[in-house]
Amino acid sequence: MRRRIVAGNWKMNLVFSEADDLVNGIAQALIECDLDDVEVVICPPFPYLELTSDIGEESDFSVGAQNVSKFDNGAYTGEISAKMLEDMNIYYCIVGHSERRKYFNETNEDIAEKVKRLFEVDITPIVCVGESLEQRESGNHFGIIKKQVVEGLFHLSNEQMENVIIAYEPIWAIGTGRTATSQQAQEIHSFIRGLVAEKYGKQTADNISILYGGSCNTQNAKELFAMPDVDGGLIGGASLKADDFVKIATSF
Ligand code: PEP
Repeated sequence: MRRRIVAGNWKMNLVFSEADDLVNGIAQALIECDLDDVEVVICPPFPYLELTSDIGEESDFSVGAQNVSKFDNGAYTGEISAKMLEDMNIYYCIVGHSERRKYFNETNEDIAEKVKRLFEVDITPIVCVGESLEQRESGNHFGIIKKQVVEGLFHLSNEQMENVIIAYEPIWAIGTGRTATSQQAQEIHSFIRGLVAEKYGKQTADNISILYGGSCNTQNAKELFAMPDVDGGLIGGASLKADDFVKIATSF
């Protein structure tokens, strides 16, 4: 089912007391505004998942992880498995963020494996795709995004595909303060939906949620979310301020 979603990616920020303040601040801000049909997801670093999930049980948000191992279980020091996340009542997981592709050499094949592990335990993947500035300027961005979508996701069944969340995050807009225009976002979101329709049919394509990410903030969220194929946002920097994050969630 196509849903409106605003997800916060805290990345590798905050110590425990700051995380505690932020998650409580978000819970409080959510009480004060009446969010109707918007799903709010908070993706903190692994050590704060339990704290966030405990507060989430009493509040109106869900919790997601920022990464998962492509392996099932075993001798993989430092890795966190999908089963461990499931056991902690985590319902979402970001996969294939451009920072993981860049700094940890994650490939589309790795991402496909991670998505498989998540579906094995019914965790919804939030799969990130997006082009670099160089790729956009050379006109190659449609090809890059198509490859990411096809190689990362097209092994899925129809039913699984309907439950995937895709986040279009142009790398040149992440953490730079330079947002894609609403027209640029719409163009790529509609392109992605078209790819899904070609392989899985229009109904499946119409049912998936496609989020925009990249310097989305309280000033530009409304215009971006007004686009017909933009179903919400994956928010980095602005998700670290409770009021800003919740304001973005009210921007539909
Ligand atoms: C992100 O990293 O997912 C992101 C969208 O970051 P920012 O909002 O800070 O650009």
